Amino acid sequence: MDLKGKIAVVTGGSRGIGRAVVRKLNCLGATVIFNYLSNTAAAEETVKSCSNNTVKVISHRCDVSNVEDVRIFFKSILDEFEKVDIVVNNAGINRDNLLMRMKDEEWRKVIEVNLTSSFLVTREVIKTMMRKKFGRLIYISSVVGIRGNAGQANYAASKGGIIAFAKSIAQEYAGRNITANVVAPGFIETEMTNKLPESVRTKYLASIPMKRYGKGEDVANLVAFLASEEAAYITGQVISVDGGLAM
Ligand code: NAD
Repeated sequence: MDLKGKIAVVTGGSRGIGRAVVRKLNCLGATVIFNYLSNTAAAEETVKSCSNNTVKVISHRCDVSNVEDVRIFFKSILDEFEKVDIVVNNAGINRDNLLMRMKDEEWRKVIEVNLTSSFLVTREVIKTMMRKKFGRLIYISSVVGIRGNAGQANYAASKGGIIAFAKSIAQEYAGRNITANVVAPGFIETEMTNKLPESVRTKYLASIPMKRYGKGEDVANLVAFLASEEAAYITGQVISVDGGLAM
């Protein structure tokens, strides 16, 4: 796979799956611009960890749930690079709670950061993709967006919403050579999952047929394929990277 000459944007690239995606797209020759919420040192670490120095890797602070932030972020990218070929909607959070204890703020924040951000980001890039007659939109959902999960009604709704959103975009823009696909990771070792209690981690592990947690790289490999020319005839799909968890 070769992404030379492509401009790729990754949301939430300062750590975890996002960092692995930035590194992979860089490795394949894309210019990568990524955003993060607050940890500038971690974002710099992502940039430093990229191995291909022949192309740029740029980080921006940007809250993907904030309409103005997203507008400014994409304006600066389009001013400098004049196009966006690939977008990986990865930034996400969880605020887990049982429904009867769930606060308004826990519901609202998760929907805004995980789902509304996909709408805001896609709306900003769709025109340039239409003009260039090329686009690869990739959305990071979750196994939980397919199956639901007790204690994660807000997170599951946001991730299920991403699937329906991506399929709608796939249908709207298929005729413009713009694809929209969803990656549904299972249990991937990142800071998001490291904070789970050991008992929950062990229970998950027992239910993964491959008997190991996933790595950011496992997800990044599929994202890179979906971003490539080789995936030109694939759109509106939800593909799991989960060691068999959701089958
Ligand atoms: P993480 O918590 O390690 O990293 C999240 C990233 O999102 C960080 O870079 C952070 O800066 C960024 N971010 C958070 N809120 C933001 C905001 N408002 N604006 C901009 N950036 C923001 O998480 P992760 O485990 O790497 O997860 C990445 C994505 O994959 C998320 O969408 C998550 O829901 C999804 N996912 C993760 C797993 C898993 O097991 N880790 C499983 C399924 C899906």
